[in-house]
Amino acid sequence: MHIHYLTGEFARSASETAFLSSQIDRTRAMLGFTLVFCVAFFLSFFVTDIAVLGLDAAVRDTLPARLLVAAVAGTWAWLAYRRPLSIRAMRLAASLSEGIALCCFMVVALARPHEVHWHAMSMLIMLVVIYLYIPNRLVYSTALGTGASLVFLALVAFVLPPRPVSDLVTMGMLLVLINTFGILAARRYNWVAREQFRLQVTLKQLAQRDQLTCCYNRHYLHDHLLEHELQSARQRQHPVSVILCDIDHFKRINDTFGHHEGDAVIRTFAGLLHKMVRSGVDAVVRYGGEEFLLVLPGIDLAQGTSLAESLRAAFAANRVAPDADGPGLQTTASFGLATYDFARDDGRVTLPDLILAADKLLYAAKHNGRNRVEAIAMN
Ligand code: GH3
Ligand code: MG
Ligand code: MG
Repeated sequence: MHIHYLTGEFARSASETAFLSSQIDRTRAMLGFTLVFCVAFFLSFFVTDIAVLGLDAAVRDTLPARLLVAAVAGTWAWLAYRRPLSIRAMRLAASLSEGIALCCFMVVALARPHEVHWHAMSMLIMLVVIYLYIPNRLVYSTALGTGASLVFLALVAFVLPPRPVSDLVTMGMLLVLINTFGILAARRYNWVAREQFRLQVTLKQLAQRDQLTCCYNRHYLHDHLLEHELQSARQRQHPVSVILCDIDHFKRINDTFGHHEGDAVIRTFAGLLHKMVRSGVDAVVRYGGEEFLLVLPGIDLAQGTSLAESLRAAFAANRVAPDADGPGLQTTASFGLATYDFARDDGRVTLPDLILAADKLLYAAKHNGRNRVEAIAMN
């Protein structure tokens, strides 16, 4: 999960999407709130203008532009609160509202040509809001912020009544500074948020997965998986199979080839299990040293037995041979499979009962000669 040094966003789009998805509710709330704030900001300027200046021509001319900003930002704010907007829609909302607000600002500057210093000050505030307050992608905020700064400078230099060059230079310098600091601060914010996310992912990985094999650990099985699978099986009313498997005579492998080679065999077995089950659907848990548990939602007795047989045959075709020319040793494993059909659930059997039944069958497989599958349907 590499963070890009320029943008402070994840370089890989999959990581960036995972991060943005994890933040989506917070971002939506933030967008809604900031857009409501923008509406209030633009409308309150209109009210104070009338209070101080009365309804003169300039105030009247800028009314439609201000109403347009309020309507666009208000509509998006309403949508952000009412609809589950996608990341793309939120970026469109932010960019569109910012773009229209900046255009409205230029209209106000043209309608009131003698208040350039106040306009410059407002411009600086708007840039702070764009870079730091409204959630948007940094590249979009930068394009809008720097683009609007250039347009504003061009208005002051060529369209509005002439001003001393020193005024123009000072204004230009201030705009360069505020854009630079805005971009740097937004980049730092991006970076810090993603660093935090990266840390969370690492901690979650450490808490849920076994380091040697990357399989789920028992902590995850008992804290999350059992409950989740049971609920889902009851809702969908489908069968669930569990397979408990254990490498045969593993002590022999350790004693003959050493622990390092033993670890490699465990990793090979785990790799095989991961390769042959459905990714993202089935769960592979390291249940003990060289003992693994598979939780297979939607798999009935026949399908489960066929999978266990394939796993058994694939592992039996494997050899531990640290020396290329040595005889090596065949690796085998035994399998216990238990299935329960939740379409015919009478509430008597839970997933721990299923694991217990698979454990007994694994013991039977060992007893009956190893390198074999024993299976049972619990209902
Ligand atoms: P059986 O066919 O009855 O299963 O015989 P077995 O020799 O495999 O017996 P058992 O399952 O009881 O042995 C497990 C051995 O696995 C004992 C332990 O030293 C070893 N072991 C457990 N975890 C690890 C590990 O992470 N790495 C290595 N190399 N060995 C491990
Ligand atoms: Mg064993
Ligand atoms: Mg064992």
